[in-house]
Amino acid sequence: MSEVFSMVNVREDFQKHTRKMQARLNYYKMNKNSSNTMALAPNTSSKRETVCIFGTGDFGRALGHKMIQSGYPVVFGSRSTQTSSLIPKGAEVFSHAEAAQKAAIIIIAIQRQHYNFLIPLAEILRGKVLVDVSNNLKINQYPESNAEYLAQLVPGAKVVKAFNTVSAWALQSGTLDASRQVFVCGDDMEAKQMVMDIVRALGLTPVDQGSLLAAQEIENYPLQLFPMWKFPILLSLGLTAFFFFYCLARDVIYPYVYENKDFSFFIAISIPNRICPILALILLALVYLPGVLAAIIQLYRGTKYRRFPDWLDKWLLCRKQLGLVALAFASLHVLYTLVIPIRFFVRWRISSRIVSQALNNKTEPLNTTNAWLSDSYVALGILGFFLFVLLGITSLPSVSNNVNWREFRFVQSKLGYLTLILCTAHTLVYGGNRFLSPSSYRWYLPNAYMLSLIVPCIVLVVKFVLIFPCLDKPLTRIRQGWERNPQYSEQSNYIINKSAV
Ligand code: NAP
Repeated sequence: MSEVFSMVNVREDFQKHTRKMQARLNYYKMNKNSSNTMALAPNTSSKRETVCIFGTGDFGRALGHKMIQSGYPVVFGSRSTQTSSLIPKGAEVFSHAEAAQKAAIIIIAIQRQHYNFLIPLAEILRGKVLVDVSNNLKINQYPESNAEYLAQLVPGAKVVKAFNTVSAWALQSGTLDASRQVFVCGDDMEAKQMVMDIVRALGLTPVDQGSLLAAQEIENYPLQLFPMWKFPILLSLGLTAFFFFYCLARDVIYPYVYENKDFSFFIAISIPNRICPILALILLALVYLPGVLAAIIQLYRGTKYRRFPDWLDKWLLCRKQLGLVALAFASLHVLYTLVIPIRFFVRWRISSRIVSQALNNKTEPLNTTNAWLSDSYVALGILGFFLFVLLGITSLPSVSNNVNWREFRFVQSKLGYLTLILCTAHTLVYGGNRFLSPSSYRWYLPNAYMLSLIVPCIVLVVKFVLIFPCLDKPLTRIRQGWERNPQYSEQSNYIINKSAV
């Protein structure tokens, strides 16, 4: 489906590599700086340290409930010290100052706009670990992150950002699983490790995002709406609208205007069954087009160490989503095709053909060429769809995690191109000998499937050219780090050094 992990996307690989290096560096620092109790394994001692939660709202209560279940004594700091039935059983409620004195870790489950009440408590909070769980209503709502703001208000405390991507509902309903990631960041390694131990004890997976500078990005995560899906979905909506009106003009309006025939019922099945395979093929080709463009750019520049243009970077990153949307359209095409034999119009056309043969007392001889074309067209479609589904399955994290890099590349790149070849051939054979027939052009507009062949044919031809040794060899060398023009070496070293810090 996508060459997501293809060598082509070298920048992505490079970033992954530097992120791994960063993670190793953090791991090393953590182990170096922390005592045994800060080990990466969760704190399994039966006696857990008391945790204080400021705020008895939805999130504070849900988190408190989960912590008590995991064996943590919990105290709440609230404006009202009266316990209500909503407070989790086993927890105690105190004033903020009293509660803060009972624990080393204080979770601030209060909206950012109320943080001012912490200023008078600054002395009590000195040296404590303050966990900021807050979210905002808009991306980059404030100049600084909520966690950094908290650190400014209470300078003596060790602020850690965590838990903001977990919802109160998920905590309460128990729909969390161990794969649920909790992004954690903070400047104090020991404080961060303490929070990460709690995260693990709750059955969640902490992901160290580095220093408090990362807090703004973490706060933006829950506000993003399918970030990688935006481009594929908008593109498919745009293409769907275009091809719908294109087919409407050719297949419904044209016969109505020139032949006075009402084919408006085509809107229900015929037109969607034209749009779906067209979109499936174009989107599948668009999965492979950025890889081909990236290869051309690398060949032209003679290095892999220069950034691709932003648009290409974004395109490369959403190839998996593009492929999955393409698979959805291909599946719809299969469903629409399966109902063809039970369509009234199709049954009427077949029966009227038989009747007209009977009336004329003339049987149409078997046209072997047409039989071949029809069977090959269906066979190519079946094989193409089978590989398409295979690509979709291997792009699932649970499957891709179980295959090694070569296997994954083989499926996503080699089988991916084979799928594109089969699906393109399926469309070409469908066209058969109708490509040059004048009846295929209405209002000078070619059949819609002809338009769908443009991008896949370009991708396949360019890919074919790139396989030639005179281009493939230098490209392979470039992807292994060779540079035609050494002036970029310094730049690449600079990037490597910058990313490693
Ligand atoms: P909430 O139900 O409105 O509760 C907020 C609590 O803050 C109140 O119950 C109150 O506790 C306290 N509070 C309100 N005004 C205050 C003031 N002027 N001074 C001091 N304390 C005040 O909000 P929530 O849903 O629990 O969210 C709390 C925090 O968690 C927010 O920052 C939110 O962004 C974050 N968060 C929430 C979720 C979620 O699913 N709800 C998920 C992730 C993160 P007392 O009455 O006990 O003082």
